[in-house]
Amino acid sequence: MFLSNLTKIYSCSGGRTAMRPPAERRNRVRLSARAFSDKMLKVYNTLTRKKEEFVPREKGNVYMYVCGPTVYGLMHIGNARTFMTFDIIYRYLKWRGFKVNYVQNVTDVGHLTDIGEDKIIKGAKKLGMEVTDFANLMIKNYFEDLKSLDILKPDLTPRASEHIQDMIDVIKKLIKNGYAYESEGYVYFDISKFKNYGKISKQDPEYLEKQRKETHGRKRHEGDFVLWFPAPENYPLKWKSPWSVGFPGWHIECSTMSSKYLGLPLDIHGGGKDLIFPHHEDEVAQAEGATGKKFCNYWLHGEFILIRGEKMAKSLGNVISARDAIKKYGRKAVRYFLISSHYRTEINLTDESIKSAQNTVKKLIDFVDRIQEIKPKGKYNEKLKKKITETKEKFEKNMDDDFNMPLALAAIFDLVNETNKAINEKKISKENLVEIYETVMDFDKVLSILEHEKGKLTKEMMDLIIKREGYRKRGDFETADKIREELRKRGYIVEDGPEGPRWRKI
Ligand SMILES: [Zn+2]
Repeated sequence: MFLSNLTKIYSCSGGRTAMRPPAERRNRVRLSARAFSDKMLKVYNTLTRKKEEFVPREKGNVYMYVCGPTVYGLMHIGNARTFMTFDIIYRYLKWRGFKVNYVQNVTDVGHLTDIGEDKIIKGAKKLGMEVTDFANLMIKNYFEDLKSLDILKPDLTPRASEHIQDMIDVIKKLIKNGYAYESEGYVYFDISKFKNYGKISKQDPEYLEKQRKETHGRKRHEGDFVLWFPAPENYPLKWKSPWSVGFPGWHIECSTMSSKYLGLPLDIHGGGKDLIFPHHEDEVAQAEGATGKKFCNYWLHGEFILIRGEKMAKSLGNVISARDAIKKYGRKAVRYFLISSHYRTEINLTDESIKSAQNTVKKLIDFVDRIQEIKPKGKYNEKLKKKITETKEKFEKNMDDDFNMPLALAAIFDLVNETNKAINEKKISKENLVEIYETVMDFDKVLSILEHEKGKLTKEMMDLIIKREGYRKRGDFETADKIREELRKRGYIVEDGPEGPRWRKI
């Protein structure tokens, strides 16, 4: 089986990549439990600019690769949106019964900017740390942020620094196949040799023609891109190669590690839309040039996030880290905000849009609390049973249409409203409530907004809630409020309902 093979590869090479934590293993089992559905799933393929029927290379299995982080700073909310998009896709494919093999790289080697600066080395210097320690810290932060946002960790997260020899082997193949050449310690990919160059990004033919013909310094052509860099003096991230002591280009790590762990063609390759050119274009050229096989069948790209109507940029001073957003708005509200629009539409983070996400999350949580707490006296409501079937169909139909989350959510809210109406009219039975609860929680395997954490309440917290209830009953609201504030500080919200106090995690 796929994962056991990977584990074997890793233990042989002594790789340090952390595999799934126990909690995530539980998720995998839970999410894989559904029978595989043979209905048509459509995805928008950047390669063809069309929605296409999704047919994986092996029935029931999906091989998915998503470009991961370059570890030089904290994850910002724009990165979080991309990783969230593919979390929803990953979860939904599993929910639908696919076995998904999901790999995401971690870029922890040189990543030179146009001005010859390396972000990882610069970041390490700023904190007065060794480069490797700094990269390890940033990777730790990255996984913590994924966890905070409830983004499932991919099955494998290989680090570039542990695959240098693999990359050198791919570069050697490219030279042998006539697609690459060495020049002054650098190795370049010759774009004039790769006929399909520009096929994903649909480059302007005139621009491409120029890129293919004009020479540029040590390069044969303006558009040739680097596969191997010689390291500048005193550069800490460097390895020996047949061409120079140096480090690989960024693009080559994705072609190499995706092919190595998933085989070709990949079913899905994902990333933010800013990666289409040159990163993904170059990944295709390298992988296909080295192997002679098609690299990927479906290219999926997520849209950007705007901050109060503006592009997020350091120069505008409006970059928000994922952890700051969570601190300010709450984990569930941030998650809901990021998943509730279609992944191919821009979203705008404003006070109103985040407030609306907070309100919607509260509405959903209150609903789930309500259907668990009320004691219904009505008869079994056949209309509600029909509504559940209809909601399930709509949820699946919309998610099958290129993961149309807004319409899938609309179907859920329709069920919520209908149920609330039936409760108010006392036209609901215990059996109805159980069915509705199970349906909503089943959708939540994809959304991951509602998961109840009541089992995680510590005895200390429980004692505080009981103590507070005692003060409240005796009319000492001041002390009760103080305890409520104390609980809030520790991450719990307590509300007083007709049937006693209700609590939830913030
Ligand atoms: Zn990549």
